[in-house]
Amino acid sequence: MSDMTNVAKIFGENVFNDTVMQERLPKKVYKDLKKTIEEGKALDPVTADVVAHEMKEWAIEKGATHYTHWFQPLTGVTAEKHDSFISAPMANGKVLMSFSGKELIKGEPDASSFPSGGLRATFEARGYTAWDCTSPAFVKKDQNGCILYIPTAFCSYTGEALDQKTPLLRSMEAINTQALRFIRLFGNTTSKRVIPSVGIEQEYFLVDREKYLQREDLVFAGRTLFGAMPPKGQELDDHYFGSIRDRIANFMKVINEELWKLGVTAKTQHNEVAPAQHELAPIYVECNVAVDHNQLIMETLKKVAYRQGLHCLLHEKPFAGVNGSGKHDNWSLTTDDGKNLLDPGKTPHENIQFLLMLMCVLRAVDKHADLLRESAADPGNDCRLGAHEAPPAIVSVFLGEQLEDVMEQLIATGEATHSLKGGKLETGVKTLPGLSKDATDRNRTSPFAFTGNKFEFRMVGSRDSVAGPNVVLNTIVAEALSDACDILEKAEDFPMAVHDLIKKYAAEHQRIVFNGNGYSEEWVEEAARRGLPNLPTMVDAIPSLVSEKSVEMFEKFHVFTRAELESRAEIKYEAYAKAINIEARTMIDMASKQILPVIVKYTKDLADTVNAVKEAGVDVDVQLELLKETSELLREAKNALEQLKTVTAKAGAKEQSEVQAKAYRDEVVPAMEGLRAPIDKLEMIVNKNVWPMPSYADLIFEV
Ligand code: ADP
Ligand code: MG
Repeated sequence: MSDMTNVAKIFGENVFNDTVMQERLPKKVYKDLKKTIEEGKALDPVTADVVAHEMKEWAIEKGATHYTHWFQPLTGVTAEKHDSFISAPMANGKVLMSFSGKELIKGEPDASSFPSGGLRATFEARGYTAWDCTSPAFVKKDQNGCILYIPTAFCSYTGEALDQKTPLLRSMEAINTQALRFIRLFGNTTSKRVIPSVGIEQEYFLVDREKYLQREDLVFAGRTLFGAMPPKGQELDDHYFGSIRDRIANFMKVINEELWKLGVTAKTQHNEVAPAQHELAPIYVECNVAVDHNQLIMETLKKVAYRQGLHCLLHEKPFAGVNGSGKHDNWSLTTDDGKNLLDPGKTPHENIQFLLMLMCVLRAVDKHADLLRESAADPGNDCRLGAHEAPPAIVSVFLGEQLEDVMEQLIATGEATHSLKGGKLETGVKTLPGLSKDATDRNRTSPFAFTGNKFEFRMVGSRDSVAGPNVVLNTIVAEALSDACDILEKAEDFPMAVHDLIKKYAAEHQRIVFNGNGYSEEWVEEAARRGLPNLPTMVDAIPSLVSEKSVEMFEKFHVFTRAELESRAEIKYEAYAKAINIEARTMIDMASKQILPVIVKYTKDLADTVNAVKEAGVDVDVQLELLKETSELLREAKNALEQLKTVTAKAGAKEQSEVQAKAYRDEVVPAMEGLRAPIDKLEMIVNKNVWPMPSYADLIFEV
């Protein structure tokens, strides 16, 4: 059997997908379920019972013993609680396997320990999970057994969202409604739904598990907190797209197979820029499925790495001095009949719709640049944004030369009469230029780039859920489309009104467009002149969640209530403080118990050597110099350690979450850097064989 047929055969074999449903469900039940999935119609209890029964039978045939409502609480990872299919024993002492519609649709995990940011008092700690039937159920099989996974949303007793999924589904509804309004104005009467399409490129590092286990910082914090740069980093660019070593190739092979079985369309794999860094990208799918699949990808990367004696680091910046990892969120809008609303199109009629759509996205990003930045904020991403090829913390949009030129013409003269790189153009007030797709070059430095027929949001951290960024994207664009429709629905001369609106938005939001080098110092200054927000840390970004502008928009489109937003801000401050606290305590532990003792011993050995050499009547200048240098660094390190202990204790004692997060940012983070600096220098002096942990070179060049 060839590899190709193999893939086709295993693809989706563990998914309760459309084919399986069509095969197993009675026609009427299948039709009802499809209606629910496609049109959001409520599912009646009888249908739910039949679906549940068939799902259970199918899962048991696959070997499943349990089912779980799989949800995404605000911890950044997924949660599951397993229930077996067995029913209460019958009179004869035997059990049946049962799974009802009720159990499929609704679950009630005792969820009082998940972050709720004050939304739930402990006395009313009920949380509910509700089946998201738009994301297919699947079984996960491994040596430990087989379990049926049901993707769900997670809410409080009073219906407030406690997870990533609920607001995501709400935002998809918002953009569906507004985008339908928008395309109807342009004469589309046939499309029934507009769905955000999302493709996520996932970056990760692989290190040897034995070495990983020898570093407390990797184990507790997911990144190195100490570590001198090896003589070679990534400067030769010889890893990027380089040929893939056997051990890694074998890892990728297994990853692909596991993901294909789960219906994840793993497509592209390659070595990334930094040594030991790699990337995996599936083919784009509906937004909520893409979010689920990305969670599965992250889990599978970890699991398979473990099985193969490797460890997968998903942290945004596992190693200082080389590239960090991100997640590119490729986003577009697709109708149910397959039209991509971000495709420039071939005719002027399509162009004009496209250009207004483009201007609406610009308007959305300009108005809510702070929110978009916030959606990519996590403690790990603070180490990455702005450094080493990463997107800067300033949000701007890259359109490419051709579109930017069209925009400038529109602003200058009210019409675009030509486009760069050839192509005859139709002129006239109501006619806009045809655009050929490949006239846009790439700009790797832009955090938000138009790439032909989609936008690519590159700020997202590698470890973070992509739900947050997509909630923001969907909602801000829904708002912009809604504003445009409010104006256009009242217009007497529609083409003229569209034209005026394109021109108006182009002029008003041109400041968000930046095609230059986003990593340069000049851009930081230029962005400040343009009045674009620059929010360097997560703590700086969190307030944008609860600004009046944000609350008003999220409430208008029923994505978040004010209380939900406030609870999320609270959770994020806490998450930040906890993450930095763990890092600081890990550094204190490593420095006190592992590193300083080694240095003390080293200085003692050096002093002994000095005496011995002196006795032999030989010059000891070099030894003394080394001893002096080491002792000075040791002093510096010891002082920095005490300082770190003091400020960490002080920050930890703060009560209010925002105040506490700021204390960690302003006092603990600099103190951590203060401790790292002398220790990294010491690593370059002390014998390699006595250094208490694997070096950067051991970790990233010897996988
Ligand atoms: P690039 O080279 O521009 O990064 P790729 O072809 O490698 O683009 O695709 C990157 C990701 O974007 C993949 O997950 C791909 O499926 C996805 N993608 C491609 N077209 C679209 C689209 N129209 N909407 C959303 N995602 C898309
Ligand atoms: Mg890309």
